Amino acid sequence: MEEIAIIGSGCAGATAAIYAARAGLAPLVIEGKLPGGLITTTAEVENFPGFPDGIDGFSLTLNMRQQAEKFGARFVADEIVAVDFSAVTKRLTAASGKVYEAKSVIVATGAKPRLTGVPGESEFYGGNGVSTCATCDGAFYRGKKVAVFGGGDSACEEANFLTRFAEKVFLMHRREKFRASDVMVRRIVANPKIEIVVPVIPERFVGDDSGRVRAAVVRDVATGEVREIEVAGIFVAIGHEPDTKFLAGALAMEPDGTLVAGGASGVATNVAGVFVAGDCADRVYRQAITAAGMGARAALEAQRYLEALS
Ligand code: NAP
Repeated sequence: MEEIAIIGSGCAGATAAIYAARAGLAPLVIEGKLPGGLITTTAEVENFPGFPDGIDGFSLTLNMRQQAEKFGARFVADEIVAVDFSAVTKRLTAASGKVYEAKSVIVATGAKPRLTGVPGESEFYGGNGVSTCATCDGAFYRGKKVAVFGGGDSACEEANFLTRFAEKVFLMHRREKFRASDVMVRRIVANPKIEIVVPVIPERFVGDDSGRVRAAVVRDVATGEVREIEVAGIFVAIGHEPDTKFLAGALAMEPDGTLVAGGASGVATNVAGVFVAGDCADRVYRQAITAAGMGARAALEAQRYLEALS
């Protein structure tokens, strides 16, 4: 029986593992489909405190993992596909067929950015001109033209943020009306560096000889006209999907799958002894550092829960 099982090994899960391991609880981390989490797909992380020259996302979570292992955390290459939280002992069923039992559980499964699926997108994603994080990659487009796809608060926020660096931002949405809040829409309309292009859908993303994005090809939904818009970078901001489907019925979640995190700690769930951390429970900030902070809080809360159990 494990004291703490941590589902997920990104910034949230790995930080929870460091805290739990330093408390002598030898946590078991079940890595999931993408060991190290979504940040491993980011070429350069420039905003994680402590790395003035930046660090690649893969090394960042590998460092965290090694730090956790140094204090006794164990990582297993497996994926949890079902849970049973109905009893005090929590049961986690893995894809390997193995069933893990734990007194407490930290869910840190993250969220996947939704992608458009158009040709060229996956080819240029992660360092060659297609990104899903303006906070992470915006600074690489100083003085250049970029495109943002999406019509929600994220797309508007990303477009506004990108105008700090980019010469021009094309904000492309598939409908005339934005889903984003009025205040966000007013902000983008007032920003002279943003050109709103609606109603369009992406057709394909094309590159230059160096293998980097050169343009977005879009189709006007109303007229059918196809246009090529020259940009050096494309930011896709059409929502995220929390990796929580396997928890349906076991934990309270919002209609979009975001886990409900509550209590004074902000990391408690509706099940005693089960805590959450990172993007699976946070649709607003979604940063490595905020996920790590939640991971630390979740481990400290799990520790308190275990002390009260004994
Ligand atoms: P969202 O509200 O779900 O918006 C997603 C947008 O992408 C929608 O405009 C949608 O178009 C479009 N879209 C979806 N699939 C598409 C596709 N295949 N091709 C083209 N466009 C597509 O997601 P979000 O903007 O990430 O926001 C998520 C939540 O976080 C929201 O509750 C939001 O308010 C909140 N948030 C808040 C803040 C803030 O307050 N500062 C910042 C960011 C996010 P349709 O409109 O046509 O469906």
